[in-house]
Amino acid sequence: MEKTQPSLTPIRHDRSGRIHAFEVQARLHHHYHVVYQAGLLSRYGRLFLSEIGNRMVVVLTDTRVQRLYGPVLASSFQEVGMEPGWLVVPEGEKSKRVEMYCRLLDQMAELGIDRRAVLVNFGGGVISDLGGFLASSYLRGIHYVNLSTSFLGQADACVGGKVGVNVSRAKNFVGAFYHPRHVAGDPALLRTLSERDYRSGLAEAIKVAIIMSPEYFRFLEKNRSRILDRDSEILVHVVGEAARYKMNMISRDPYENDLRRPLNFGHTLGHPIETEFQYRNIRHGEAVAIGMGVSTAIAVLKGILSESEAERIYSLLDAYGLLGFSEPIRPDRVVEHIRYVRLVRANHLHFVLPKAVGGVEVTDDVTNADLIRGFEAFNEVVQWKKA
Ligand code: NAD
Repeated sequence: MEKTQPSLTPIRHDRSGRIHAFEVQARLHHHYHVVYQAGLLSRYGRLFLSEIGNRMVVVLTDTRVQRLYGPVLASSFQEVGMEPGWLVVPEGEKSKRVEMYCRLLDQMAELGIDRRAVLVNFGGGVISDLGGFLASSYLRGIHYVNLSTSFLGQADACVGGKVGVNVSRAKNFVGAFYHPRHVAGDPALLRTLSERDYRSGLAEAIKVAIIMSPEYFRFLEKNRSRILDRDSEILVHVVGEAARYKMNMISRDPYENDLRRPLNFGHTLGHPIETEFQYRNIRHGEAVAIGMGVSTAIAVLKGILSESEAERIYSLLDAYGLLGFSEPIRPDRVVEHIRYVRLVRANHLHFVLPKAVGGVEVTDDVTNADLIRGFEAFNEVVQWKKA
């Protein structure tokens, strides 16, 4: 497979300021650009026209994003003479379900969406996962783009081409690898995210820092107050860097054979935790943060990670309000749900453990007893830190 390394190119545009943009080759013959810019939403129609062309467009979004930003997106398309159709689902993880996927397929057929149409996923990670999966299968595949509005979406979910929906027993159980034609995000929109959704997105940025970049980790340590103040300029950098690091890894392994496994750090436990909460009352990033904390504790218990490096990880999670969770979590129940993770991964856990800030190892040598001990050790850390 022919490959090019993705490069992150800050471009200075006349009048429009700084754009964080990079180009990705996800697989042969398939390039796409990723563009993050504060204020991009009102100009999105023009960007779409130049990247994709004048095509039949249908926008998939959720009720909250539609209410806050639907009119701005609609008028940016009208400015370039385009009139998209709209599919609007209730906000939140409950829409990322196989039943909703089936309902939307029917609606798309009713709207007369044909094979040349392009689906615009306008929202957070739920919308890009659900819409990407719809696009992968509707009429055997139509093109889609992601216009991401949430922190978690911009930092992580909208790039990489993993799309899918949940079933009641397991998360992301049905899905595909299907890459978008273009990705864009407007970090100025992150101002209206709820506190919990904002912090949940930060968990994925912290994940990227732990698995592959001591420099990015230091950046997150040093810039806590500007990041928590949602300064748009710094957010372009935070989400742009997280997405770039992820794409760097994925461009070498677009179909998750081996190299992109470190990206599952915190998720092998995070997904079963979400299942245990039945996808309610816990955000994806909150569950991943617990998964990262427990994995860090396991790495210390196994002698893979030093106490001092673990302390840096716990402190960064704490600095962003992501250490521990307000409700009790039963480790035995989480371990039970891990059965389905094993099913997805052909009985291999591929558990990701940190070796140091900026480096991880992937191992199958994590037993249920290790997981339970890890939960206990992590709970002690949380209690000690909160005391
Ligand atoms: P989400 O899409 O449900 O968004 C969270 C909430 O924020 C929703 O209520 C939404 O309406 C609201 N919202 C979005 N943008 C907003 C804005 N600008 N202002 C105000 N409110 C806004 O969830 P999420 O946290 O973005 O993503 C979580 C999902 O992403 C999970 O399903 C997870 O599995 C998935 N994910 C996928 C990948 C991948 O590689 N495909 C990676 C990480 C996470």
